[in-house]
Amino acid sequence: MSLMGNMMHMPLMISSLLTHAARHNGDVEVVSKRVEGDMHRSTWAEVELRSRKLAQALGRLGLEAGDRVGTLAWNGYRHLEIYYAVSGSQRVCHTINPRLFPQQVAWIVNDAQDKAIFVDLNIFPLVEKLAPTLPSLKHVILMCSRENMPRETSLPHLLCYEDLINAEDGNYEWPSFDENTAATICYTSGTTGNPKGAVYSHRSTVLHAYASALPDAMNVCSADTVLPVVPMFHVNAWGLPYSAALIGCKLVFPGHHLDGASLYELFEQEKVTFSAGVPTIWLGLINHAKQNNLKFSTFKNTVIGGSACPPAMIRTLQDEFGVQVIHAWGMTELSPLGTLSRLKAKHAGLPKEQKEAILAKQGKGIYGIDMRIVDANGQVLPWDGKSAGDLEVRGHWVVAGYFNVDKSPLHNGWFPTGDVATIDADGYMQITDRSKDVIKSGGEWISSIDLENVLMGHPAVMEAAAISCHHPKWDERPLMVVVRKQGAEVSKDELLAFYKGKIPNWQTPDDIVFVDEIPHTATGKIYKLKLREQFKDHKLPTA
Ligand code: AMP
Repeated sequence: MSLMGNMMHMPLMISSLLTHAARHNGDVEVVSKRVEGDMHRSTWAEVELRSRKLAQALGRLGLEAGDRVGTLAWNGYRHLEIYYAVSGSQRVCHTINPRLFPQQVAWIVNDAQDKAIFVDLNIFPLVEKLAPTLPSLKHVILMCSRENMPRETSLPHLLCYEDLINAEDGNYEWPSFDENTAATICYTSGTTGNPKGAVYSHRSTVLHAYASALPDAMNVCSADTVLPVVPMFHVNAWGLPYSAALIGCKLVFPGHHLDGASLYELFEQEKVTFSAGVPTIWLGLINHAKQNNLKFSTFKNTVIGGSACPPAMIRTLQDEFGVQVIHAWGMTELSPLGTLSRLKAKHAGLPKEQKEAILAKQGKGIYGIDMRIVDANGQVLPWDGKSAGDLEVRGHWVVAGYFNVDKSPLHNGWFPTGDVATIDADGYMQITDRSKDVIKSGGEWISSIDLENVLMGHPAVMEAAAISCHHPKWDERPLMVVVRKQGAEVSKDELLAFYKGKIPNWQTPDDIVFVDEIPHTATGKIYKLKLREQFKDHKLPTA
C-alpha cells in the first residue's frame, strides 16, 4: 500500500499572491499613467487594501460567487485592483478587448452573462451605446473619481469607482475555497467564427505565475521594474499582474498611451528594466528611439510574443539598444505561456549567428507544458527540427474546454493549437505558420513567417506580410505585402533579390505589392484573413 504524503494542503488562491506582495513588498510602487492624463503612484499595500474594499463593494452590489464581472479597461492600478477583488472574492473577472468590433464586444458580454462591468473613461461611450443590447448587465462602474463622472448619461445606474471604494472600511478577509474555482475568463480573438471563452482557475493561474517568473522563463525578480505593454485584456497581460505580485516587483502601467514617444518617456522616467509585448508595439518604440537617437538607460530584458518576432528585431534590440529579447510563444488557451527561447549552457561557445538562430525560435516548453507535433493522421512526428506538423499541448494551465461550449476541443487529451511547428532535438519549437495561413505550393508548404522574417531584415522595410495567392499551376504561391519605412526607397526587384541565398529558391515569392498600412487584429497580429480578401483578385506575374 502506498504511503501518503503528510503535508499541509493550502488551496492555490489568487488573493494569496496579493497578500504576499502587500506583506513582503508593501512599499514597492505600482505606478500608472492614467486615462485622465496624469501619473498615479500607489504601492502593493495600497492595492491590497483597496482590493479588499472593492471586494466588499461587490458584495454590496449583490454580486454572488461565480458571477461574471467584466472589464473594458487599459493597463492601470484600478484594473489591477479589479483583477484581485473580483477573483479573490470568488467572482469571475472577465477582461474584454475594447478594440474588438462593438458587435463582438456585445456578443462576448452576453455569452459570459456579465452582471457588472468596469469601464475606463475613454471606453465609456462604447458601453453607453451597447448597454441596451446587454440584458444581463445590472451595474456599470466608471473607473474614475466623482469629479470625472459625466454630467449626463443614458445609463440610469451608472456608478463611480472611487465612490464604491470610499464607502467601505476594508474590514474583509479573503475567502479560501476550492482552487479549481473559476477565477477569470478571456475570450479568444475569433477572427474566424465567434470568440470562445477560456476559463482559468485559481490553481492554473497561480501555477502559471510560478512558472512564468522562473529564470529560464521571463526571469523577473523583486529588483525589477516591470512595464507590461501587453494589455491586461489580452490573456491577462501574459500573467504579469500575478507574477509581479508573486515576486513583489515595481509595476508600471502605461494606460492607453502606447505610442513610441509615450512609452520611451515612461521607460526612462520610471527606470523600467523589463517589459513584454507584441512585435508591432516594439516597431513603434524602436522607430521613435532611432529617429531621435535615443538609448535606454535601464531597460534590459523584454519578452516578445503573440506573433513571430522577426530575427532582425531581436538583433536591433540586442545590438543597438542592449536589450535582450526573450522570444515566447503562447495562446489564450494556454494562459498564455507555452515556450520561451533561452540558450542552454552548451550553446555558450557558439558563434553569434548560431546563437541568434536559436533565440529566434519560439523556444523550449516550460515545466508544466508538454508538447508534441503530429501529422494529418495524428501520428506523432520526430523532434528533428525538420518534420513540421500540427502542434498539440497539454498541461496545468491549458484549457480542457470552452465556456458554454459542450464539444471538447481536445484530441486524445491534447489541445490542438492550430499552429504548425517543428521541434528540434534540443526541444526548441519553431512555428512555421498558423495552419490556415500556410502557403501550399504544389503540395509543398511554404512558411509565411520565414518569408516575412527575411524582408523584415531589409533596412527599407517597416512591415511585411506573406499571403497565399491563387496560381493556375501551383494552386497557391506567396505574395508579399510590404510597408516601406518612411522616406525609404526600394523596388520590388530589389526585395525579391534580397531573398537569394536566404531561403530555397523555389520558395521566393512570386510578387510584392507596396501598401501604406497592413491591417492588424485587435490583439496586434497581422490580419491575414483581411489581406487575403483584399488581394483575392490579385494576378501574379507568374500566373
Ligand atoms: P492569442 O490567443 O490571441 O494569444 O493567439 C495565439 C496565437 O498567436 C498562436 O496560436 C500563434 O498562432 C500566434 N503566436 C503567439 N506567439 C507567437 C510567436 N512567438 N510566434 C508565432 N506565432 C505566435
